[in-house]
Amino acid sequence: MRQIFLLILLFIVGQWLVKALRRADARTGAGGHAASRNGGADAGAGTGNGANARNPQPPQLAEPMIRCAECGVHAPKSDSVIVAGEAFCSADHAHRHAVRTGTNRRDAR
Ligand SMILES: [Zn+2]
Repeated sequence: MRQIFLLILLFIVGQWLVKALRRADARTGAGGHAASRNGGADAGAGTGNGANARNPQPPQLAEPMIRCAECGVHAPKSDSVIVAGEAFCSADHAHRHAVRTGTNRRDAR
């Protein structure tokens, strides 16, 4: 049984090696063409690296938007005012909403 297991293992490893060699060949084969391109790209590597250093900055689209509980306008979370778990586009609307809900609570009582 061990011999069969070893044969299967060898078969799998052999196929994996063949695939790895084929990939390596493809890379070296394509590398012949890419080498000349890389040679040209090295000249502009300084500017390229500068662009790469700028890219990692988080996109501004990632900023979550909130909906004002008073007027319903969508505003970026950094510009919003959050009072009592509710988000508002401005402190003025937060105050208005607080006054309105405050009067409603008084009316309810
Ligand atoms: Zn608002």
